[in-house]
Amino acid sequence: MGTYDVALPETQPIVFPPLCVVCEKENPDKVIKLSFLGTKSEPVLQMVVEGADPRYYGGNILSKIDGIPVCKSCSAGLKRYHFLLKFGYYTAWIPGLVPIFLGAPQIFSVPFMIVCACSPGIYTLMRPPSFGASFIAGVANFEFKSRKVAEEFMRLNSEGIEKVKADKAEEERLKEEKLAAERAKAEAEKVDITKS
Ligand SMILES: [Zn+2]
Repeated sequence: MGTYDVALPETQPIVFPPLCVVCEKENPDKVIKLSFLGTKSEPVLQMVVEGADPRYYGGNILSKIDGIPVCKSCSAGLKRYHFLLKFGYYTAWIPGLVPIFLGAPQIFSVPFMIVCACSPGIYTLMRPPSFGASFIAGVANFEFKSRKVAEEFMRLNSEGIEKVKADKAEEERLKEEKLAAERAKAEAEKVDITKS
C-alpha cells in the first residue's frame, strides 16, 4: 500500500482541489484543520539508524494545515486517525523504557526502544492515511492515498514543485562551484610549493 507524495517548499501556501481527500467526492461539504509533526532541521540520528523516521529526532514542530476538503461523513475517520497517530508519536517510546528499567542487556533494550519509537511510522506505512503531511528540513511532503486527489493537488501547486526542483539544482550547482574553487586553490598551493 503506497501513497502518492507531493513535495513542496515548507513556506508555500497550498491549495487543495475541491475533492474529498478520503473518497474523491467532488465539492465535499466540509473543510477541516489538522496538525502534523515535523522537524526544523536535518535529523542527526539518521546517520546512526539508516532510514529511521526523522520525525522522532531534532526539534519537533507542529504544523497546522487548514482547509483540507473532506465530506462530513469522511472527516471523523481522518481526524481520529491523525489524533491517534499523534498520540502514538508522543507515547510509543514509553514501553521502550521498560526493559531498561528492568535492567535488560543493552543488546536487547536498545533495539526494542527503537522499534517502539518507530512503530507509529511503521503503522503509517502499512495503513497510510488518506491524507498525511510531514515537514522536514524546509520541505513539506504531502501524502495522498488517492491518486486522483494527488494529481489535482500537484497540478494546482506545481509552481512550488518547480521551486523545490530549482532550489535543489541551485544548491547542487553552488556545491559544485565551491568544490571546483577548492580544487583550484589546492592546485595553486601545490604549484607554490614546487616553486619554492
Ligand atoms: Zn468523502
